[in-house]
Amino acid sequence: MFDSLSDKLGGIFDKLKRSGALKEADVSAALREVRIALLEADVALPVVKDFVEKVREKAVGQEVLKSVTPGQMVIKIVNDNLVEMLGGEGKTIDLAAAAPVPILMVGLQGSGKTTSTAKIAKRLQEKEKKKVLMASLDVRRPAAMEQLQILGEQTGVATLPIIAGQMPVDIAKRAMTAAKLQGFDVVMLDTAGRLHVDQSLMAEVVAIRNAVNPHETLLVADALTGQDAVNVAQQFSDQVGLTGVVLTRMDGDGRGGAALSMRAVTGKPIKLVGVGEKIDDLEEFHPERVASRILGMGDVVSLVEKAAETIEAEEAEKMVRKMKKGQFDFDDLRSQLRQMKKLGGMSGVLGMLPGLGKMQKQMASANIDDKLLARQEAIINSMTPKERAEPRLLNASRKKRIAAGAGVSVQEINKLVKMQKQMATVMKKMGKMGKKGGGLPLPG
Ligand code: GDP
Repeated sequence: MFDSLSDKLGGIFDKLKRSGALKEADVSAALREVRIALLEADVALPVVKDFVEKVREKAVGQEVLKSVTPGQMVIKIVNDNLVEMLGGEGKTIDLAAAAPVPILMVGLQGSGKTTSTAKIAKRLQEKEKKKVLMASLDVRRPAAMEQLQILGEQTGVATLPIIAGQMPVDIAKRAMTAAKLQGFDVVMLDTAGRLHVDQSLMAEVVAIRNAVNPHETLLVADALTGQDAVNVAQQFSDQVGLTGVVLTRMDGDGRGGAALSMRAVTGKPIKLVGVGEKIDDLEEFHPERVASRILGMGDVVSLVEKAAETIEAEEAEKMVRKMKKGQFDFDDLRSQLRQMKKLGGMSGVLGMLPGLGKMQKQMASANIDDKLLARQEAIINSMTPKERAEPRLLNASRKKRIAAGAGVSVQEINKLVKMQKQMATVMKKMGKMGKKGGGLPLPG
């Protein structure tokens, strides 16, 4: 069994005196444990090194909030970065091209290519209501074509009729022509694999790619192969070019390190994961779940969640104190926006103040739009610290500079300034009213 990373980190930090910010030496000690955890999870060494360096940069100097331990703080930073590096959710198969859309499936033999081809075809047919044609281009493995044909029969997905002796490129072209004639939306091309990456395999896949110009080229990789997966991914990525990865055998007892390696090496999203041998055992990729699996212990998720909650609560308290003094500058607005992004509403912070229910709703309906929140944050980020702390400094020329920096119009800056002013006004009133609460006039 693996020792829990949090236990180990706890041990390290117990010996340290509490201090305001994470120090280089503390972070390094913690990151040694993180490094081991990643290697135990089968993340490739170069990827581990890269990751650890990135986290080090972010972690050193970060303020440790009083309600969490430095160990929790480091785990949170590691976890957040892991999730970020694994990529966001919702990266599904892209079908935005003229029909029939060719999808090329590549990977080593035994990686689960054929199975994944059928799984994805069925999914596109059922969930996206697409008419899918599957074709096996595997002329090497004797039963490969029949395997796909049987899967097609089981799933109700059409397969290209087999013509003995035809070469892969010709089969691919025939599939495209047939799909055009018969009105298919998507053509899934299952290529031959090898036990190892070799030049003849690459040449074959490249020839097929050139013949059909696939809209998606998906690498199918076995999550249990760990370190080897990196070399495979690198070769396919360099020589063929990929648009995404399908990670199979995520139902196995591997710890999912391949996901991080794949993502880092190819720079492409993991689009789907295989979680079993059955045709419906296909799922969307959830970075959070994989991150906690990589870190390797059940308690890390709850620990991180708890830490995040305390961090949020503490930020909220700080904010409330400031608000009660009648202060509300752009730094405050920015942390509000960030909270909104996280919580999906103002409830986290404003909920602590009496009488703000209506404004809460108003702000929420006006601003719960991720893109808008991101733009507003970009605007505040383009301000100098002084401008953030003293909003009245914002004159026309400063606004112009900020607008250029954030890539938005001055009009948008004005809207944000208005928002900050309204909030400040409300805060002032709040401050005067002390703890009495009660109905507040709405701003604007
Ligand atoms: P190919 O050689 O790459 O086409 O691999 P196959 O599709 O023939 O799959 C090889 C084996 O792996 C088969 O026995 C599949 O049932 C199995 N397999 C494929 N995907 C998964 C998965 O996500 N989980 C599990 N447990 N088995 C899988």
